[in-house]
Amino acid sequence: MSQVGDPIRRLTPVVRLAPAKLNLSLAVVGRRSDGLHDLHSVMVPLALADRLSLAAAGGSDDTLHVDGFETGPPAANLVLRALAATREAVGAGWGGSGGPPPALAARLDKRIPVAAGLAGGSSDAAAALDGALEAWAVSLTVHERLRIAARLGSDVPFFLADGAALVEGRGESVTPLRGVTGDPPGVLLVTPRVALPTPRVFAAFDAAGGIAGGSTRTSSAHLADELRSGLSAAALVDRAGVLAVANDLIGAAVAVEPELLGLRRRLARLLRRPVGQSGSGPTLWVLYPSLVDAETAAEAVRSAHTAGELPAPGDGEPLVTATTILTRPQPDRSDR
Ligand code: ATP
Repeated sequence: MSQVGDPIRRLTPVVRLAPAKLNLSLAVVGRRSDGLHDLHSVMVPLALADRLSLAAAGGSDDTLHVDGFETGPPAANLVLRALAATREAVGAGWGGSGGPPPALAARLDKRIPVAAGLAGGSSDAAAALDGALEAWAVSLTVHERLRIAARLGSDVPFFLADGAALVEGRGESVTPLRGVTGDPPGVLLVTPRVALPTPRVFAAFDAAGGIAGGSTRTSSAHLADELRSGLSAAALVDRAGVLAVANDLIGAAVAVEPELLGLRRRLARLLRRPVGQSGSGPTLWVLYPSLVDAETAAEAVRSAHTAGELPAPGDGEPLVTATTILTRPQPDRSDR
């Protein structure tokens, strides 16, 4: 741990955008002795993002205020857990004070649907880790940051990569990729209002026989190779048919929530495009050459729902969002 920067900046308010992620491919390649699964997945960050701000707290405890989507009890929130883990790693003696870094007041504007396969909670955790270090004007080595991230959750290390990446193991192995280059591809997200906890989907995957053949892994490895040197939006959209089936958890998600199958099929028919699934679901994705195309598709999906032409699994109409894949070079992620 080392102190950096002007001491006066130590408690500068920090604002971070915490992007959602999309799995363009997801192969389950092994089951470990601890019951977790080894994955091979190409993940990309999206423009759809939560907004996290951190400032000095009045009292001695970190606090959290959440606007937007409901995230459950504050004590279990990944933002507070990340602040605590980061403070512990920084340790005593902050700024020559002899004590730990001071308490922070966090405000989270939750714009990413929760428990949707978009890893919003993990992204918030990475943003809190990174943002707290900036607020305290302290740095940790990349290795230390990755260690904290991996302990907070499988998807957290990905968000420290700040761009497209090949993610392996249970998420701790992250290889940055150049990703999509040029104009950002549009993405339509359709998130049914069903609870699809990740552990239940993996349990269904195991119950159905576990590790499948290697075709998803082959598609995932091929995509990772292509994204290593960069793909244009048009080239990525061309591969949507292959990528839409390159997720080993699609069948398991349908086993937990059978109505997902009908929604996928009807969406594919309505939009005449391949429909993929992000992570363990339930969010379904459709790729477009641009944001405008994705917005047009979003309108078509909303109209079809209003007309009762699409199934609405669970508790009401799905959330429909048009966004883009973030391309490198990354814009400044703080919107201060
Ligand atoms: P995973 O695949 O890791 O389960 P997900 O992408 O499906 O994640 P998230 O939105 O990251 O879903 O949240 C998973 C769970 O974590 C939720 O059920 C929620 O109660 C809890 N959680 C804790 N902190 C947060 C947060 N800041 N944002 C969203 N969910 C949070």
